[in-house]
Amino acid sequence: MNKEKTIAYYRSLREEDLCSCEDCIRFYRSIRAAYPKLASYLKTLGIDIEKSLDTMPVCPDGKGSFIYAGPQYVILGSPDDFKETAIDGVSLRIEDSHPDPGLDEEYFVIECSEINLPLETERNDTDEE
Ligand SMILES: [Zn+2]
Repeated sequence: MNKEKTIAYYRSLREEDLCSCEDCIRFYRSIRAAYPKLASYLKTLGIDIEKSLDTMPVCPDGKGSFIYAGPQYVILGSPDDFKETAIDGVSLRIEDSHPDPGLDEEYFVIECSEINLPLETERNDTDEE
């Protein structure tokens, strides 16, 4: 793993590089506060927890939270020294199936196990169901 290159990659990602759907925006805004230990751990690898390659939104769980099946993160460098682990009840492993981050350098992608984030109280009530 190349931490310096990973940090530079996350710094270079802008808001317009990330998915802008409602479910992903909820993820970017609430993941750090909801999973502080996971955020700290990912930071030790150079990852910004808010800048997920794919948050994998699924659906509300019916209990006030929204389910993300397996948020993915890019790490620059070789996966040789990556160790599978679990933080805050979330396990991390290498995943080969992922969107193309458009990188010319060596990288790999890790995937979290399921993440649940609280549904925000809607500010602009557009109940059109
Ligand atoms: Zn999205």
